[in-house]
Amino acid sequence: MNDILSTSIEYIKGVGTARAQLLKSELGIFNYLHLLQHYPFRYVDKTAFTRIVDIISEDEPVQLRGIIRRIEEQGEGSKKRAIVIFRDESGVTELIWFKGLSWVKDLVVGAEYVVYGKPTIYNERISIVHPEIELATDKNTKEASRFDPVYPTTEKLKARGLDSKGLGRIIKALFEKIHPLREQISETLNDKIIQSMRFPRRYQAYLYIHFPQNNEQRDSARNRFKFEELFFQQLRILQTKTTRKKGAAGIIFDKIGDYVNNFYRSGLKFDLTNAQKRVVKEIRKDMGNGLQMNRLLQGDVGSGKTIVAFMCMLIALDNQHQAALIAPTEILANQHFSSIAELAHPLGIKVGLLTGNIKGKSRKGILHQLETGELQILIGTHAILEEKVVFQRLGLAVIDEQHRFGVEQRAKMWAKNDTTPPHILVMTATPIPRTLAMTIYGDLDVSIIDEMPAGRKPITTYHKYESQRLWVFGLMKKEIAAGRQIYIVYPLIDESESETLADVKNLTEGAEAIEREFPKPQYQISIVHGQQEPEDKHFEMQRFVQGKSQIMIATTVIEVGVNVPNATVMLIENAERFGLAQLHQLRGRVGRGGGDSYCILMTSFKLSEDGKFRMQKMVETTDGFKIAEADLTLRGGGNIEGKQQSGILGFKIADLTKDAPIMNVARQVAQSILEDDYLLEQPENAILKTTLEASKQTFGFGKIS
Ligand code: ADP
Ligand code: MG
Repeated sequence: MNDILSTSIEYIKGVGTARAQLLKSELGIFNYLHLLQHYPFRYVDKTAFTRIVDIISEDEPVQLRGIIRRIEEQGEGSKKRAIVIFRDESGVTELIWFKGLSWVKDLVVGAEYVVYGKPTIYNERISIVHPEIELATDKNTKEASRFDPVYPTTEKLKARGLDSKGLGRIIKALFEKIHPLREQISETLNDKIIQSMRFPRRYQAYLYIHFPQNNEQRDSARNRFKFEELFFQQLRILQTKTTRKKGAAGIIFDKIGDYVNNFYRSGLKFDLTNAQKRVVKEIRKDMGNGLQMNRLLQGDVGSGKTIVAFMCMLIALDNQHQAALIAPTEILANQHFSSIAELAHPLGIKVGLLTGNIKGKSRKGILHQLETGELQILIGTHAILEEKVVFQRLGLAVIDEQHRFGVEQRAKMWAKNDTTPPHILVMTATPIPRTLAMTIYGDLDVSIIDEMPAGRKPITTYHKYESQRLWVFGLMKKEIAAGRQIYIVYPLIDESESETLADVKNLTEGAEAIEREFPKPQYQISIVHGQQEPEDKHFEMQRFVQGKSQIMIATTVIEVGVNVPNATVMLIENAERFGLAQLHQLRGRVGRGGGDSYCILMTSFKLSEDGKFRMQKMVETTDGFKIAEADLTLRGGGNIEGKQQSGILGFKIADLTKDAPIMNVARQVAQSILEDDYLLEQPENAILKTTLEASKQTFGFGKIS
């Protein structure tokens, strides 16, 4: 937007070249708008002072009002520090500075100051290191604004005088500059929304959010900005979706033929759950209406998504098209390949596998058969996305465990056909809270399998420490004696995506201890990790799948996909290193029919608060959605799955964990506007269109959708 808010901050009073540089590199602030959008994360009530005697905790910062009695310097060289003895009518505290000592000397002994900072209590003595300090004036108590904004800042900025108070000063200076020009600041929302939502106007809202005079002002401004972020995000997502729906013709699958009928009659070994039936119907309808399908299939671990995906593939085949299934890992691709091939072969369907490990002649063969159409179903990893992989007529692409794939990958699949893009079905087992789903998958239609197949066994979850390992071994032996099987999972040591040698070492050491406790030949153990040759990995997996080994020790490679109904124990080592979603996924590997099942979370005694909370949640519930909500609370909605969402979730003030109600309103408003005017061409929507375009540039969104 080309208005005064894009002016550089350099000439604001108190900024200058050096600080402007620093604000840019540290906080990404380089124009007026960025500075206005550097919102306070909380406020200090300026009329509320703590008495020094009343300081009892180190947890919360305090605001004091008192007099400087003395200024001392202590220590030599790098240990040099300035100590200010500060007292109010109730007691004494020390204010300590290790840096910026020369400036401390300018404080005035005997004068009254307002001090703000986090106290340290040691031997009943209270001190505050590097507090913010300001001469107390009548302003502090009588000023119109009761609240002092507290801004996020960084160490580097603090060292240049831009602590929270310093930032507050330059923001105040900015308001003095723009106040006379406020009429030139364009609105970002239209009158209709502002009036119906009772929002303050834009300039007013900036003023209210930085320097509120009361709670109402502060809240109304915060609500407006939260709404704005969520609203434009939803507008962007929903407009993309509508545009695509209007624009992208889809292949019409209107036949139900032999493949589907034969499979339904003789291939199915169980009755579909009602949820599975409903979902197949939804997908079928979506693939028959002449528009390209982009649908998310969501269902908890073990809810039976694979069979649904397979039936959808059969629909594609019945309509003379090919189908593909893309999995996030090699192991999962193999797993899918064997289970789908098993279902497909009796029907005379040709299924192929394509992963990075399939090279040379066999790769050539597959690519050839794919191009001639001889191969009807292709299962694989992201190797399928490569341009060289050409289908004769791709009708449906199923993407499993989408959270590891980006939107870009989805787009690559659309491009596989010259004319009409294939239908896309994204499968995810990660239950996602609604607010987040609206954000990440907002452009997809959603089908949910909310029912588990019959015969699921209850899973009891225990949290145990190393000292209780004998108990754990006892449980394992009892289960093995009853003919059951056991998974033992190790985390990846560093949080990189792939396994390292150190991970294998950790696993190997653990495995040795297990082998001592469970000796051959009475017990057989399979060991599986990412550093193995694919054949070895496959061999070990098969031993376990076929029941030849009773224990499988693995790194997280088994997180997804493996299906051994006879397994009843999931033992997770160093469980504190796993996130909630991952723990839940792992737990879903048991309870699949073998019998009452157990998930044991082993952790060290020392646990972070966060770690304790995760273990507690796991013990408390097996409900995937409750786990997902808890997960979101922990992660504050940021960085849920890493980089692919960072650009999409770049909120400055909205918080998905807390702002679900605002999100719902924002989505409804966006939806109703687009229903009447999806290109935002009507005059009353002109402002929205302008803001939306500007926000697309900020988000770089044009590129990925
Ligand atoms: P997920 O949703 O985690 O991918 P799967 O598709 O792997 O679940 O299914 C888990 C197991 O449940 C598989 O062994 C599958 O054959 C079985 N299954 C799927 N649907 C049903 C059903 N309706 N009744 C009984 N078992 C089912
Ligand atoms: Mg699955």
